[in-house]
Amino acid sequence: MADNSVTKEQPKKVNFIHLQIDEDLKLGKNDSRVHTRFPPEPNGYLHIGHAKSICLNFGIAKKYDGKCNLRFDDTNPSKEETEYVESIQKDVRWLGFDWEDRLFYASDYFDKLHEFAVQLIEEGKAYVDDQNSEVISNQKGTPTRPGMESPFRNRSVEENLDLFMRMTAGEFDEGAKVLRAKINMASPNMHMRDPIIYRIMKAHHHRTGDKWKVYPMYDFAHGQSDYWEGITHSICTLEFEVHRPLYDWFVDQLQESDYRPRQIEFARLNLTYTVMSKRKLLELVKDKHVNGWDDPRMPTISGFRRRGYTPESIRNFSDRIGVTKVDGMIDVSLLEYSVREHLNRTAQRVMGVLNPLKVVITNYPENESEELEAINNPEDPEMGTRKVPFSRELYIERDDFMEEPPRKFFRLAPGREVRLRYAYFVTCTKVIKDEDGEIVELHCTYDPASKGGNSPDGRKVKATLHWVSAIHAVKSEVRLYDRLFSDEDPGGHKDVDFKDFMNPDSLKVLNECYLEPFVRKSKPLDHFQFERLGYFNFDYDSTPELPVFNRTVPLRDSWARAQSKK
Ligand code: ATP
Ligand code: MG
Repeated sequence: MADNSVTKEQPKKVNFIHLQIDEDLKLGKNDSRVHTRFPPEPNGYLHIGHAKSICLNFGIAKKYDGKCNLRFDDTNPSKEETEYVESIQKDVRWLGFDWEDRLFYASDYFDKLHEFAVQLIEEGKAYVDDQNSEVISNQKGTPTRPGMESPFRNRSVEENLDLFMRMTAGEFDEGAKVLRAKINMASPNMHMRDPIIYRIMKAHHHRTGDKWKVYPMYDFAHGQSDYWEGITHSICTLEFEVHRPLYDWFVDQLQESDYRPRQIEFARLNLTYTVMSKRKLLELVKDKHVNGWDDPRMPTISGFRRRGYTPESIRNFSDRIGVTKVDGMIDVSLLEYSVREHLNRTAQRVMGVLNPLKVVITNYPENESEELEAINNPEDPEMGTRKVPFSRELYIERDDFMEEPPRKFFRLAPGREVRLRYAYFVTCTKVIKDEDGEIVELHCTYDPASKGGNSPDGRKVKATLHWVSAIHAVKSEVRLYDRLFSDEDPGGHKDVDFKDFMNPDSLKVLNECYLEPFVRKSKPLDHFQFERLGYFNFDYDSTPELPVFNRTVPLRDSWARAQSKK
């Protein structure tokens, strides 16, 4: 049902990156090619912030008839795993994007990077430093005070080559030596003060195994990987703006032609009531505050998928928020709006009762039933109609009945007539209670002349309720989700751990829900609107005995309304 292609979308808004690309094309740079890449580090699952970057990078390739690569930035073997590599590919595909045959890894370039490091040493542009990282960082100075040169800075090329080869052979312990670029310890840009380009790490790499004892730093690997892949626009988040001179410096050392990749920075996505750093998300998973990376409360792409968000709604959200140079915070209800807006157009309607109250239609024959016609999606006539069974015993929502209704309550009450959607007008004739005074059942009569829910004589009712036939109903579990955090910026408090803001009521499980038989045909991830209640989807945890549904979003933004009343 979900449309996974990007072709049906409205034209994308023009952003400042598009304007810079237009300018490059006008100047005929890089033979007028446009080639971007999405470069995740495989150290966690992708989140909604990554989705923004994916939509931006693949979106640019599409707009300019260019290409976008998927490249794993796997330069830190201690945190990276194959599980992440696989989940990332699945998520990018699910979002509707295709890297074709251009799947790369920074580790593909470990040999070339090593050769390039040797080249820098031979050119006198890199040296081995025997100092530990603490000493090196103490010598770095401050933005207003120049750094101090390392006593090892002026080693001979021969000595540097010899030491680097011995580092590579695994002769030294981790931390004993590093290779640094020899740039400028007095540069006003701290990143230019002889940055470390290789470190000793004796860790197993998910792709290169135990081959390497030295690994390139991110800054050293990234721009060169761009260069070797022929990337024209290397789009990254704002914190890399200050790294740009270093990015350019490395590319200058490689430069053999007019071709050159250009780094452009944009503001990362931050969402209210959400933490987005992979370190924090990993902590939630590892310490079991949530049930895995794909817990429907997680802001991960896999969590949103399981929750019932659609690729189209995430792409539309990404389009709506645009791309800027200013860090800000986007209201998470805008994302929920995008989801609701797409599901409204596409989701199959069904009736389901989450908090059941039994109703007996006393004038309906026993052991009989009939099928009534219901509309599958009023927004899309092509989705057609279905049959819904009706019989003497039904369930309605407990909230839809009040024994002593206040003035503004128009739903069912003793003596009152309401419409059962697609079925009949019914009137409540009797309330049955248990010994504790709890209402356990209602008796109603129906008007056979109101079949289909149409008034037989022009008389009006003030409410239309959803219902299910008790003997036909599919008993199900329904999981209701609320925000995982109750603070607008859970990660933004000094001295308070973000986990202190976790919402204790973020998951509520209802295990006696009754749904119309149509849902029996569901496959995992199928979307529904449960009429009057919200959007739901079928969960992988379902068994033939007990189908499980997740609430994707309520029908209306009731949460925002509740907050504004506070
Ligand atoms: P985190 O800080 O969550 O660990 P990261 O930037 O280290 O994220 P990477 O795997 O390196 O994660 O990110 C891959 C790409 O996604 C990068 O180009 C990065 O700029 C982009 N990206 C990461 N987080 C966001 C975000 N919140 N908004 C937009 N783009 C993002
Ligand atoms: Mg990163």
